[in-house]
Amino acid sequence: MISARPPVKPARKRRIAVLTSGGDAPGMNGAVRAVVRMAIHSGSVAFAVHEGYEGLVAGGDLIKQMNWEDVRGWLSRGGTLIGSARSMRFRERSGRLAAAKNLVLRGIDALVVCGGDGSLTGADVFRSEWPSLLLELVKSGDLTEAQITPYTSLNIVGLVGSIDNDMSGTDATIGCYSSLTRICDAVDDVFDTATSHQRGFVIEVMGRHCGWLALMSAISTGADWLFIPEMPPRDGWEDDMCSVITKNRERGKRRTIVIVAEGAQDRHLNKIGSTTVKDILSTRLGLDTRVTVLGHTQRGGPPCAYDRTLSTLQGVEAVKAVLDVAPDAPSPVIIIRENKIERMPLMEAVKQTQEVAARIKAKDFDTAMALRDSEFKEYYSAYMNTTSVDHPKMRVSEEKRMRVAIVHVGAPAGGMNPATRAAVGYCLTRGHTPIAIHNGFPGLCRHHADKPIGSVREVSWLESDNWVNEGGSEIGTNRGLPGDDLENTAKAFEMYRFDALFIVGGFEAFTAASQLRKARDYYSAFKIPITVLPATISNNVPGTEYSLGSDTCLNTLIQFCDAIRQSASSSRRRVFVVETQGGKSGYIATTAGLAVGAAAVYIPEEGINIKMLSRDIEFLRHNFATDRGANRAGKIILRNETASNTYTTQVIADMIKEEANGRFESRAAVPGHFQQGGKPSPMDRTRAMRMAIRCVQHLEAYAGKSKDEIAGDDYSTAVIGVKGSRILFSPMGGPGGLEFKDTDWDRRRPKNEFWLDLQNLVDILSGRSNYGNDI
Ligand code: ATP
Repeated sequence: MISARPPVKPARKRRIAVLTSGGDAPGMNGAVRAVVRMAIHSGSVAFAVHEGYEGLVAGGDLIKQMNWEDVRGWLSRGGTLIGSARSMRFRERSGRLAAAKNLVLRGIDALVVCGGDGSLTGADVFRSEWPSLLLELVKSGDLTEAQITPYTSLNIVGLVGSIDNDMSGTDATIGCYSSLTRICDAVDDVFDTATSHQRGFVIEVMGRHCGWLALMSAISTGADWLFIPEMPPRDGWEDDMCSVITKNRERGKRRTIVIVAEGAQDRHLNKIGSTTVKDILSTRLGLDTRVTVLGHTQRGGPPCAYDRTLSTLQGVEAVKAVLDVAPDAPSPVIIIRENKIERMPLMEAVKQTQEVAARIKAKDFDTAMALRDSEFKEYYSAYMNTTSVDHPKMRVSEEKRMRVAIVHVGAPAGGMNPATRAAVGYCLTRGHTPIAIHNGFPGLCRHHADKPIGSVREVSWLESDNWVNEGGSEIGTNRGLPGDDLENTAKAFEMYRFDALFIVGGFEAFTAASQLRKARDYYSAFKIPITVLPATISNNVPGTEYSLGSDTCLNTLIQFCDAIRQSASSSRRRVFVVETQGGKSGYIATTAGLAVGAAAVYIPEEGINIKMLSRDIEFLRHNFATDRGANRAGKIILRNETASNTYTTQVIADMIKEEANGRFESRAAVPGHFQQGGKPSPMDRTRAMRMAIRCVQHLEAYAGKSKDEIAGDDYSTAVIGVKGSRILFSPMGGPGGLEFKDTDWDRRRPKNEFWLDLQNLVDILSGRSNYGNDI
């Protein structure tokens, strides 16, 4: 998640204030931290306005200058530490006059507002009125002409902080994935009781006008039915819902989960409440059903890895925008599309958002849905196409039906099972036959005298349904490659009559696809379409900026770091040198470093040398010297497992201890395979579904084509990936293919790693980049 913009050179010293407004959201503190530190780093003065717009109106102590150390440790804290409020006074011009006066008196000429659409609208009103507010203040004698002269314009930059993910134009808002994590944890916990007692659970989640949380939690937990405000069910939904749930029960499903957004309604705008749904399930189906309203637990708790990174990158981008947006340009809001941080005019995003609510009110649901971003629509149809309903219209004609083989290759990663479940669900909806190859390519070759011995089996809906939240690989995975036994692999492809192959895994999966493609000249069995869905915690597969499992790993790592750092709070002064996995790619170490606010990150791409270590020890000394009060906690250094052969994790910890001269201590900590995570994160689950379906759709495009046509098409062996703001397939072979152009085969990683610039950002935000460069 990186912005392509060049670093900013400040034209003049700016005084930048940040406030949080509207409902609190996890990640807001990360945004404030990033704004404060980036502002100071770029030579500006940073202020925090406490209690939202109320603080702006009241002034006094509620507007405080912020120092570098003031935001230490904020990344991991939930809620907003500078407070939020709904301010009636700011809605009045008199309140905004007082606010303008407070800013001018402190020389503040830029305001970064983190909040929902209401807060951003307020910001835009303030900015558009700014010249007239100043004139009025001069007229009333509150300010003099000389006082207002330097402040003819006010820079406003918006950051969207909202758990609902209800802002148009951005794929995610700060806080939404943390909230989704809370919901999924709760539903995962309910599974046990629901399954044990064969019960139904109706779970009500937040979202008055926006069904994002409901939809994504339904995908992440394999809910049987879903109610969201934007897409009310057709009339007679009670019968539809009951028949789907009955069918799922008949297939053997022991639990029933229905997710209801708090703003759910029917096509006539009558509310569909969780109790109503429960009553229907109890009376019509005789199902022992309970209602669970999750309430405010959805808002609280520490931010997840994604929200920490998103808020940090967006906070940094907000300061850049303050520094380089022309005074008369429309105020920007910072957004994210797939993996790219971008800007768009703030009021355009607000207007689109308000239009969705207006369209829903006018019962124009199709337009409301069309106004939502394309990701939301895609997730909605992915859910509908894989969950429970029989769609006769979705079935492809007999001759286009395929036997789709699914195999996992490499180390386990969160999201492998949900991806397989989604592929199976989609195949069944379309009339294809999903076939699981158990225990990777070696499993495939384990047949006896041309007779299958059970490692290759068709997957039933019920079997795969349970994989929705399971970590690891249920069908089994290993590092065996087809190249180890091409002859028998080809034989097996023929024996089982595979028409298409879906590979889920990391660099080995990529290698496997490459070997199969290259062997097509000798074995025509491999002339079938092949797609790779990258799944590895290392995130080192060419062709994508995101691999399934990397988000789960990051979340596990930040929990680990938060916990050990906590153990060093109060009087103990400790540095933890934490060893991360990642093979020869420093992605996990760097991204985790950004998310935990690491003092330093050591990666194989850069290596480790004695100068670096000595500079970092000086930096740590300085860091401990400025530690105070509530902000006191352990420091984290992250070291990728292959960063250096000499400077091992233990050696670095020992060196720090030795050199600290008793002023602080150091410990090595190795989370090891713990990093592969337990249950996959909601992001890995939902992206697994979306990308797996895209992969099968890509395979489907080859149905009915001849073997030579398939072999002649570079895209018939392709990797799905997120690149910048797009999801796309990249061919393995051919002149522009990944194998040749993008792969560093020796180091098992892409030639160009998109995230390398993040390394600088980790250093800027920890203060490391300013420290001891002359050593
Ligand atoms: P959430 O998504 O949590 O509801 P929000 O930012 O939309 O967040 P609101 O309560 O709508 O929350 O707005 C927060 C504050 O922004 C208001 O209390 C008010 O001070 C200010 N605000 C909202 N709309 C305006 C407006 N049109 N003019 C001036 N100020 C406004």
